[in-house]
Parts: sequence; C-alpha cells; structure tokens
Amino acid sequence: MRTQIVAGNWKMNNDLAETQALISNLKITKQSSHAEVMIAPTFTNLYEAHKALIGVDIEVIAQNMHFAKNGAYTGEVSAEMLRSVGIKTVILGHSERRAYFGENNQILTQKVDAALAADLRVIFCFGEELDDRKAQNHESVVKSQIEKVLFHLPSNQLKHIVLAYEPVWAIGTGETASPDQVQNMHAFIRNTLSSKYGEIIAQNTSILYGGSVKPANAKEIFSKPDVDGGLIGGAALKAKDFFEIVNAF
Ligand code: PEP
Repeated sequence: MRTQIVAGNWKMNNDLAETQALISNLKITKQSSHAEVMIAPTFTNLYEAHKALIGVDIEVIAQNMHFAKNGAYTGEVSAEMLRSVGIKTVILGHSERRAYFGENNQILTQKVDAALAADLRVIFCFGEELDDRKAQNHESVVKSQIEKVLFHLPSNQLKHIVLAYEPVWAIGTGETASPDQVQNMHAFIRNTLSSKYGEIIAQNTSILYGGSVKPANAKEIFSKPDVDGGLIGGAALKAKDFFEIVNAF
C-alpha cells in the first residue's frame, strides 16, 4: 500500500516564538491518523521544531536545500546540514522556488541527486501554469518536468521520491483544481511513471496534491484513488485546519 502523507509547507512564516506556539497547538490538536504528518518550518527553526517533536508522530522536513555539500554559496544550506539537525525529508521544486529563485530542471536535477546521496527523502513538486492548462498543454508540461528531473534515476531510488502535483494557478489563490481534474492528472502521472519504471513502482509511489487544500475540500480530493495526500500551504498555519485536513483521510 502507498504511504499517505499530509505535509504542511509553512513557507517564510513564523519566527521562533510563533513556531514554538504552533507546534504546541499541533501537539494538542493531533489525533492518531493513517497518514504520515509532516511540517516544513523555515531553516532557522528546523532544529528547534525537530527537538520539540521528538517522540511525536509529526516529521519536521525542510523546504529547500542547495546541491553542493559545502563551500562558497552564501546564504545556502546543504543536505548534510539538514541531516545534522535531524531532517530526513526535503521539499524540492516548489513553484515559488522555480518562479522567484530561478530553479530550473537542471538545478533541480542536481538538488534531487544531492538529496538522495545524503539519504534524504524528496518531495518533488511540479505543476503547470494557468496558460498551459488553458492551452490544454498541462499533461505534456507535467510529463516533461518529471522526465527531465527524475527519469535519470535508477528504479531503486524511486522509493525515496514522493511526487507533489501543484498546479501553479491553484497555489495560494483560493482556486482549487476540481477533484476530477486532480484525479485525471494523478492517473496520468502514475501512467507516466509506469511507462518508465513499471507498474509496481508506479503503484507504490505516493502522489500528493497541493493547491488551496482546505478543511472544506480535503475529503473529496483525498477520496480520489490516485491521490495519496496533500501538500498544504496556507491551511497548515492553523493547527485546527491542518488536522481537519489530516483527518479527512
Ligand atoms: C503550497 O505552497 O505548496 C500550497 C499548496 O499552498 P496553498 O495550500 O496555500 O495553496
């Protein structure tokens, strides 16, 4: 069976005190769940968050990393540095990283390789822009994003990859892809994986949806057969909303 995952991407929100407060609320609100639960605070709060959640079933993950191990990359953080503070999973390829920080397929390929070499699990994000969807190019755009960054990997590495389909037009906009649009795309993604790596790997790979998931729409989206969870932005900043989404499984 595929792992179900709900991951909260806190983006550039919450200073140390706010991080501690939200984690306290998460601990109070948490119920046991089928899904793996993750939160991604900012770099400065990863260590504190990780320590605060030792022994609690909430994994602290990173929002990004650099591909180099160390060196003259001012302002950057490596996979090894993440490991050294207890991090085991990293989000790569988020559309905000692509749009504002120039992360392209080539950079993301290097990042994925560096993460896997450091034994990190990768949540790889991708998704089409609104114009792609309007022009009915969404499937070819998504296929190319996956192929260019992941398809050089040997099949034994795929178990360390989680896919997160996040249509750019649905991120932080309040506009959600319809449950059928999500299911159609997830089935397409699974077929794309199957054609390269075979059906067993395709069936075992978790594919998350991200884009304005809220307590009100989570249940319907998560009920779709190829949706294995969600990457949650805005709604992850309130413990109650976040766990209503987790409990939608
Ligand atoms: C995200 O940033 O990954 C995201 C899905 O954001 P939101 O839920 O706010 O649309």
